Amino acid sequence: MAIRIIRTNDDPVLYKTCKEVRKFDARLAQLIDDMIETMNDADGVGLAAPQIGVLRRVAVIDVGDGPVELVNPVILESSGEQGGMEGCLSFPGESGYVVRPNRVKVEAYDRHGDLYEYEGEGLFARAVFHETDHLDGKVYLRLVTEPPKDFKE
Ligand code: ZN
Repeated sequence: MAIRIIRTNDDPVLYKTCKEVRKFDARLAQLIDDMIETMNDADGVGLAAPQIGVLRRVAVIDVGDGPVELVNPVILESSGEQGGMEGCLSFPGESGYVVRPNRVKVEAYDRHGDLYEYEGEGLFARAVFHETDHLDGKVYLRLVTEPPKDFKE
């Protein structure tokens, strides 16, 4: 495993659409292992492949229950609303108030090509939307709004 360099700020790779994964091979497993190690090293709750310069539809998320690997993720359902502060390893030192759905159901392949469904809310849901946006070349900054007056971090 290896820690990869996290691309930041106006690096063009962060603004491109990723291609679907078609080969579930040793190279994919290595990519996912490196992404998990890089995310943990940076104390992040999620990381998407373009953040390490790879334009493939792969993301990893760990909100404290262990790493979840999402290959070719598709959001099946979303509901509710949550507002909260959000940051991104590609924009160090920055954060902003972002409203996201509070619940998500997502399906994704793992490194072996097996299809799984995950359901979650709160931080897990926020991370899923944040990371799947990355795969479409979208960063959270476009969603930042003024927090409501009564909002406390
Ligand atoms: Zn991010």
